[in-house]
Amino acid sequence: MREECGVFGAFNCDDAGKLCYLGLYALQHRGQESAGIVSFDGKNMYVVKDMGLVSDIYNSEKLSYLKGNTAIGHVRYSTTGSSNINNIQPLYSRTSKGKIAIAHNGNLTNAYDLYKTLISEGALFQSTVDSEVILHMVSRSRKLSVIDAMKETLANIQGAYSLVVLGKEYLMAARDPHGFRPLVLGKLGDGFIVCSETCALDLIGAEYIRDIEPGEILFIDKTAGLKSYQNTVKTKPSFCVFEHVYFSRPDSLVFGESVHNVRKEFGKRLAREYPVDADIVMSIPDSGNSAALGYAEESEIPFEFGMTRNHYVGRTFIQPSQQIRDLGVKIKLNPIKSVLDGKRVVVVDDSIVRGTTCKRRVQAIRKAGAREVHLRISSPPVNYPCHFGIDTPKREQLIAASKSIDEIREFVGADTLGYLSIDGMLESVSCKASLYCAACFNGKYPVKVKNKGKYSFESRKIKLYAQKNGH
Ligand code: 5GP
Ligand code: MG
Repeated sequence: MREECGVFGAFNCDDAGKLCYLGLYALQHRGQESAGIVSFDGKNMYVVKDMGLVSDIYNSEKLSYLKGNTAIGHVRYSTTGSSNINNIQPLYSRTSKGKIAIAHNGNLTNAYDLYKTLISEGALFQSTVDSEVILHMVSRSRKLSVIDAMKETLANIQGAYSLVVLGKEYLMAARDPHGFRPLVLGKLGDGFIVCSETCALDLIGAEYIRDIEPGEILFIDKTAGLKSYQNTVKTKPSFCVFEHVYFSRPDSLVFGESVHNVRKEFGKRLAREYPVDADIVMSIPDSGNSAALGYAEESEIPFEFGMTRNHYVGRTFIQPSQQIRDLGVKIKLNPIKSVLDGKRVVVVDDSIVRGTTCKRRVQAIRKAGAREVHLRISSPPVNYPCHFGIDTPKREQLIAASKSIDEIREFVGADTLGYLSIDGMLESVSCKASLYCAACFNGKYPVKVKNKGKYSFESRKIKLYAQKNGH
């Protein structure tokens, strides 16, 4: 699976552009391909965006350029649209409602239909990102105010969106009626922050107020303060459970609860569902850490550091060629021989997608002397592609779609393999099971998806990066 996006917005804050920069730093795990910030000083919009990591793109000169006390930012790993400069978010435009910039996390499942209609009516698209349809629809709306135009637009788009929108003297935030992706509201002095995860609030010293609710459209300006509206489309929530499994940072509150605690609970349940006699429990850093702690606590088998991570390596997922990716896997994690030698080891990781990274990790752990390797995965088998913002590979590439658990065990070379059950996973989170989307595990898609896998508005010949590996 690949990463999608993180969004951040600051309203009425000194140095809003610099706050965005910090916020994007905290959200970098949500997308490493490109980043962008758009600020507004009441008159002009200022834009700095580029391919690469936040730390590579911005310097003090570029940050000083981002004037104004309102700004939005975005980090992205493309799920729709290819990797080029025009596709870097925030997208911005002059519209009939004034200058508008938007940053979007998610996938609009009816974007292609909307695009075809807009194009046939003469719209000129600048990017191949699904989010651009929102700009066009807001601009073309007959409604007079930007908030009414946005309400009308959002009632007509489907799929997953957590949005921040910047215009003259206002900031808007919106979440789709299912609430697939997280989006939170925070306070900083007299100003407000909206962002994907609370770890970004922590970094800038902002206070978490609440989640933007599924279907909520929040309009923030100086005269009215906060004004909340509801999408006319009503449905029950479908919070993406994969945010808790892998995506979000453990120090964030997501859908109202601590990601670390949820992962620890996954690990405890896994220990009850798949106990084993062993000498140590280790995690595959960093994604398996919290669950491994939970497994160790519940099984009363000591937790050990079986692998050290080199923090100076970018994500293996974003390496462009197979050869470099293979190297990247080895550079990133090195087993600690003195810990593993002669031991029966429980190895905990968060998920198996294609199985290729996992196989290499198991091999490395054995090579370092482990006598037995008992692999425990703190989520169920990933069996179906995601259509709501997580870029799962095609079904054929998901190892669990074509192999039985025992065949997977054999493929990765483990002595035993246990996956957390779907019920075990959904009992570990605090809302009712029916309020989560677990489609990647159980195939139950909360929204009917037309044009499966065809969100990009380009000819089929223009393709994204080749398949990537695990982190
Ligand atoms: P696999 O063994 O399937 O090749 O890779 C499994 C690893 O991929 C796990 O360690 C898991 O943390 C990681 N992973 C799962 N989903 C994603 C994702 O969307 N992006 C990245 N970068 N890694 C992922
Ligand atoms: Mg991982």
